[in-house]
Amino acid sequence: MKYVEEFRDPAAAKTVLAAIAQITDALKATADAPLRIMEICGGHTHAIFRYGLERLTPPGIEFIHGPGCPVCVLPMSRIDECVEIAERDEVIFCSFGDAMRVPGTGKSLMQAKADGADIRMVYSPLDALEIARRNPDREIVFFGLGFETTTPSTALSIQQATRENLRNFSVFCNHITVPPPIKALLDDPHMQLDGFVGPGHVSMVIGTHPYDFIAQDYGKPIVVAGFEPLDLLQSVLMVLQQIRDGRAEVENQYARVVPEDGNAVSLAAIADVYEPRPSFEWRGLGEIEESGLRIRSAYRAFDAEEKFAVGYGAGPRQSSEPEGCACGQVMTGRIKPTDCAQYGTGCTPELPLGALMVSSEGACAAYYQYGAVYEAAE
Ligand code: SF4
Repeated sequence: MKYVEEFRDPAAAKTVLAAIAQITDALKATADAPLRIMEICGGHTHAIFRYGLERLTPPGIEFIHGPGCPVCVLPMSRIDECVEIAERDEVIFCSFGDAMRVPGTGKSLMQAKADGADIRMVYSPLDALEIARRNPDREIVFFGLGFETTTPSTALSIQQATRENLRNFSVFCNHITVPPPIKALLDDPHMQLDGFVGPGHVSMVIGTHPYDFIAQDYGKPIVVAGFEPLDLLQSVLMVLQQIRDGRAEVENQYARVVPEDGNAVSLAAIADVYEPRPSFEWRGLGEIEESGLRIRSAYRAFDAEEKFAVGYGAGPRQSSEPEGCACGQVMTGRIKPTDCAQYGTGCTPELPLGALMVSSEGACAAYYQYGAVYEAAE
């Protein structure tokens, strides 16, 4: 397949792996004292496991799986608020599929649907807009969720609803931004990170400059990466080359997709519709300043938090995790998914206890999905 095969070329992969091994040896990194490289994006976590990259790279490299899966970092309190809105008689609640099974304190959206709530799975906020046009006597609420990758499409749907004066449409906004949690992790004295593989899709929207602080203020290298195996291997090599040379820079391996200044149209839509919340709660990380977005007052009529009086009006919160769930520790790199006592027993993709097992981008789901393949291969 054109433009894919060349990024999966085994001969080229062996060459890059040899260069990675050479630098790892030169830096004297071992399994006991590895270089800890965080892939921020859940899509990268899955690519690393799908292609077996953590087995192909030397033991002196440890991949730390970061908080870049929006479903995984959503706290239970926000799921509870989704259920509260969805169970109102007048509401049709529209959600992406991967958020349907995330456990709340009481129930997930899937369980609320089974109990009779009118909850519909959609592929785009435009689907929700269409449902609003067809159901003028109902309130249609779109569950806006995700990083800067999905934030623009929700913004465009609000702008469109404004143009059509579609007053029975609103958004329960849970959009979040990538740089603040990276800063929170770097400020954590217990976190030991040597470099980052930066998110490709998010960077397509925001560009590479929002990561400048990682290199300039914290002295850590970051390489924005694509999602094919050679993209990731090359990005790891670029991080290692920076460490070897004593450099800390923002580099862009994914230049075929990521413009350094981002996407101007998307950034304009984001700036028009949203403003930063003073703080937002992240599962496993707690409240992080200016890490979430809320709908500007000019678009208040389309803000489900305003319309249904739920959400952050009551100020910062701290949700609890389900008993026995170690999602927070996994997400901050303190333990691996397999170290969680619930992994594979009390928590499976069919019956997830924590969000990291629900989402297609969650680290626990990646270990579970590809672990059996590794065992069979061995
Ligand atoms: S195995 Fe389940 S409960 Fe344990 S950390 Fe992963 S998602 Fe959370």
